[in-house]
Order: sequence, then structure tokens, then C-alpha cells
Amino acid sequence: MAPETKNRTLQILNAAAAGKYGVLAAIAYNIEQLTALIRAAEAKRSPLIIQLFPSTLKQLPTLAHAAAAAVKTASVPLSLHIDHAQNVEHIREIITMLPVDSVMVDMSHYDEKENLEKTKILAKECHDKGIAVEAESGRIEGGEDGIAHTGDLEALFTSAQDVDNFISANVDILAPSIGNIHGDYGPAGPKTGQLDFHRLTAINQQINHRVQIALHGTNDFPPDLMKKCIEHGAIKLNVNKLLLEVWNEYLRKHAANTPLVKLIDGGMDILQKETERWMDICGSSGKA
Ligand SMILES: [Zn+2]
Repeated sequence: MAPETKNRTLQILNAAAAGKYGVLAAIAYNIEQLTALIRAAEAKRSPLIIQLFPSTLKQLPTLAHAAAAAVKTASVPLSLHIDHAQNVEHIREIITMLPVDSVMVDMSHYDEKENLEKTKILAKECHDKGIAVEAESGRIEGGEDGIAHTGDLEALFTSAQDVDNFISANVDILAPSIGNIHGDYGPAGPKTGQLDFHRLTAINQQINHRVQIALHGTNDFPPDLMKKCIEHGAIKLNVNKLLLEVWNEYLRKHAANTPLVKLIDGGMDILQKETERWMDICGSSGKA
């Protein structure tokens, strides 16, 4: 990962690592959410990574093109990332057909050896197209939309050895398993001690600036916990429900008695404000 990379996702993450702040990598499920996220980035002069799930690429095939158009025209650094791509053939289709900057090649539902082998092959194919690669080392428990649930598979925490294995598979971004889960922790967020900060520190030291750290499983995070993760080396902050819950709440409350266009405006306003709030918390505001 050379500092002079032309890859947008890595440019954003390298700048954040150097500046010691975190960058939201925010899931969008539709054009309104995408628009609200980008408005927040421009209003706050903040970098932003836009994330789409592979299932969304199938549900709304034009959304990736809309996101890519925004990445090109926005006045702040944006990039388009595909989160949790778990199907090898779909990954090949994505990197061949779509204007994406980075992909999470998620082979964590395989055992460690097969995860590494498949990741290495796909990382090469992505890099040949100028696309950066994120991988999950160990296994983060739980499931998200369209993503294979880890089910009965136990979470596997990331070790220092895993770090070197994944770096040798040529990934650019590593998503460690440190007690974080995909899904809800409960309204108060993770229990005290659930996230292993000693492990995160050890992982960060082992990485030694060779790749960037992505933090998954941020539902219900209080601001202080997010800041603590950033202080311990997390740079790419994957967020989904953490931002989008205000949108969901707004729709639940107003959908029955608000005209559609007004409903869209109201939802975008509320999501923009929430995204701006988290950009402030993560320290990315004013960095673009
Ligand atoms: Zn994830």
C-alpha cells in the first residue's frame, strides 16, 4: 500500500491514518440514503466511503452507477466500496462490470486456510483492476442483509499471526474480530469489556502501518466507544444501523400521513444531520 496510491478508498484511509481520525464507511440501501450521506460529507467538508451490499447491487442494479457518479463529481473525497462480498463469481462480476474503488472480499465463512487462499487469488484480480481489498481475519459473529450468517460458527478472534497471514495475502484493509458482532448489542451498546482493546492494540502494533484497520459491528455504539476504537487504530468505521436508524424511525412515524416527496425530503434531512453528527464524533469533519 504505497502512500502515493491512486486508489480513492486508500487515499481517504491513508490521510485519516496520518491525521489520526476515523472515516465513516456508510451503508446506503437506496438513492435517498446515498444522497443524504453525500450531502453530509459536503456540508461537513468530510471524506466518506459509500458502502453497498452485494444484495443491494442485485436489488437496485443502477445504484452503484449513481454512487460512482457522485464519487466523481463531489467536492470532497468519496469512494465506493462493496461490503461483505462473499461469492467468488459475484466478486468477479463486480470488479469487471462496476466502477468500484474497493471490495471486501469476505471469505471468513471458510476455514482460515481456505479463507487465505481464496483471498489471495481475489486480491490479485482486484489489484490488477486498481481496486483495493478488505478482508476479515478471524470471524466476526452475526449476520447482516444478504450476508451469510455465521450461525453456529463461533467467533474467532484475530491474532497477531493472522495479521501477517492476511498481509501476505496482499489485502489493503483488515477487519479484525475483537469481540465486535454483526447485529445489535442492545440499546446501551457493547457490554464493558466485550471489545478487547488489548487485542486491538496488539493487532495495530503488528500491522505497523502496513494496512488499515476496518471496524465492523458498530450498531448501538455510544460516541465515546467509537472514539476509543479510533484511538486504538480503527480508521475505516463501517456503519449501518448506527446512522440509518433515524431514517427508519422517521419513516415508521410519518409514512402513513405524509405525501411521498415530503417524506423523502424529511428522511434525507434527518439522515444528513445524523451523519454530520457522527462525522464530528469521528473527527473527519473539516478534513476534506
Ligand atoms: Zn461487516
